[in-house]
Amino acid sequence: MSALLESYAGGRWFRAADEGQPLLDAATGEEVARISGRGLDLGAMVSYAREVGGPAIRALTFHERAALLKQLAAHLSADKDPLYALSYRTGATLRDSQVDIDGGFGTVFSYASKGRRELPNDTVYIDGDTERLGRGGRFLGQHVFTSRPGVAVQINAFNFPVWGMLEKLAPAFLAGLPSIVKPASQTAYLTEAVVRRIIDSGILPEGSLQLLAGSAGDLLDHLGVHDSVAFTGSAHTAGVLRQHPSVLHGGLSLGVEADSLNCSVLGPDVAVDDPEFDLFVKGVVTEMTVKAGQKCTAIRRAIVPASMADAVTEAITARLAKTTVGNPANPDVRMGALASLAQREEVRKAIEALRSSADIVFGDPSSVSLVDADAERGAFLSPVLLRARPGATEVHDVEPFGPVSTLITYDSVEEAIALAARGRGSLVGSVVTNDPDVARSLTLGLAPWHGRILVLNRDDAPEAAAAGGHGSPLPVLVHGGPGRAGGGEELGGIRGVLHHMQRTALQGSPDMLTAITNRWTTGSERVVGDVHPFRKSLAELRIGDTIESDYREVTLADIEHFAEFTGDTFYAHTDPEAAAANPLFGGIVAHGYLVVSLAAGLFVEPNPGPVLANFGVDNLRFLTPVKAGDAIKVALTVKQITPRSSADYGEVRWDATVVNRAGEPVATYDVLTLVAKTQG
Ligand code: NDP
Repeated sequence: MSALLESYAGGRWFRAADEGQPLLDAATGEEVARISGRGLDLGAMVSYAREVGGPAIRALTFHERAALLKQLAAHLSADKDPLYALSYRTGATLRDSQVDIDGGFGTVFSYASKGRRELPNDTVYIDGDTERLGRGGRFLGQHVFTSRPGVAVQINAFNFPVWGMLEKLAPAFLAGLPSIVKPASQTAYLTEAVVRRIIDSGILPEGSLQLLAGSAGDLLDHLGVHDSVAFTGSAHTAGVLRQHPSVLHGGLSLGVEADSLNCSVLGPDVAVDDPEFDLFVKGVVTEMTVKAGQKCTAIRRAIVPASMADAVTEAITARLAKTTVGNPANPDVRMGALASLAQREEVRKAIEALRSSADIVFGDPSSVSLVDADAERGAFLSPVLLRARPGATEVHDVEPFGPVSTLITYDSVEEAIALAARGRGSLVGSVVTNDPDVARSLTLGLAPWHGRILVLNRDDAPEAAAAGGHGSPLPVLVHGGPGRAGGGEELGGIRGVLHHMQRTALQGSPDMLTAITNRWTTGSERVVGDVHPFRKSLAELRIGDTIESDYREVTLADIEHFAEFTGDTFYAHTDPEAAAANPLFGGIVAHGYLVVSLAAGLFVEPNPGPVLANFGVDNLRFLTPVKAGDAIKVALTVKQITPRSSADYGEVRWDATVVNRAGEPVATYDVLTLVAKTQG
């Protein structure tokens, strides 16, 4: 008998007392492992996550969490071969396994990088600018995100045992939430192998990650406000979960990513010898065969102009005829097995349902010729292409979760959009066209029905293919779709982190907001000391430290000199008559960049010191024109301090406010500098 999978619960590996259910190799039917969660105390797992994991993660800043994710991704990437070996047993080819395994590790790397670059080195995330709520500027509003003291539970599908876990784990961890992972039983042995590596590495704080190998049991009974369940799987199970009392009455948040009848639309502009024709055909065939079509993002509906249907059918058929099916570990094989014999039966049933209004034009659901494999023992299925008859309805309702796609024809762009919409909400749609007007019409028509749209033409095709094409969710783009696709949203860079956090609108005085957010807020105290802030290291600088300059007059000679020197001789700076006629200026004004340059001259401390470089300016606005003879002064205040963990310097964001003699704001902006951590 094969080994019983263990759960990782409450800081130790747990083995059920019974023999468990066998999990069979998708290609050979041999037993790979057994699974049982009998006897596991799921309530205790939830408490452990809340009491041990959560506090340990939230003691870290976003940057510290990001650094651990980076370390973890590097650790996991070091030795992938044993994971590929296990992955073959799920029916996946090497190419499929790379999507799952490398794709999963890549997602963790991506979140590590986003977390470092786009989140502060803090535990509170500032959302947008302050809002003035009173006339005097003493009462402001500021949105912030904070970590919830809860648990992120993930209930995953069988098709991506590694990516499915990691694409949810990484954003939840960054958000400060511990995760409990419940993989689909069918392929849980691969998830368990990766969890074991993560736990053995000791990289994540204890309690950050627990594994439930076995059924979900009464897990949801223990969850409530601040907890979330991210579910990927069938619409049926999603419906069961939506009815759970913890969701209905307990404040438990449920994100669903269920089945989706994704489409690819061939534009009416595309002719058979256009590159877009091939791109369309390749896209459909790739999505039918990668993971044997067991992808939530696969193209189930290929929507083509009626006049192109025969040509498209022929081209897809020719490619499918070359697809070798069989032992996924054999390098000559293009398409492996479905996850299980039961899953193959499901797909066959779905094909039967489709056949009531569509005809099979390629493939035979009951027989397939195989390379190096046994059709009785393994869950192999031929790719099957169908062509919908006019008025077909099943194609918009039935999801064959396998290597199956159906051609549907349209006569106008409006009809193509209406057909796509009949899927009632999908994860992803492709628009294949080289006509910008068609691209706009189709995309705007399809967008409300889709979480993601790939607009494919000869220009972006090579890079789009390298990025995984239609079927690959990317960590930086949102994944999820409306309606039938579940209505959930994951990934999308930092958006995926913020989904797990609580947004709160704060109202208060500038000083209070500065203290709470660790970012200097306009109107807060400016601290002017004896030491120029440019002479202070990162360790010595404090939020609010300020240099206030004296006034400097801006003369006509300054303006003329700047115009001549830079070549910026725009009439408002050089031609008195034309400038006088300008409705905004009414005469010669200083260049905005002259004002900013003079301000730099006013606040600079010229000698070598801890300030290493100026790396940019954010939010620059010129608010009041400066005329010859006006004077300006600047206040430069430390707004935000962000040490870099991987360097001996950090970033300092300064608020720069330039005013004229009347005290009117002339220019406001943030100056971005790199400052040494210590005096050196
Ligand atoms: P399921 O919905 O049955 O299973 C998905 C996950 O939910 C698994 O982890 C499963 O655990 C768990 N689960 C099942 N019942 C419950 C429950 N009552 N409470 C809590 N968790 C539960 O989907 P399948 O994996 O069986 O796939 C069936 C169909 O779903 C496919 O044919 C396809 O149409 C669709 N699907 C869609 C996917 C997508 O990405 N959108 C991915 C995979 C499937 P366990 O495995 O232990 O039963």
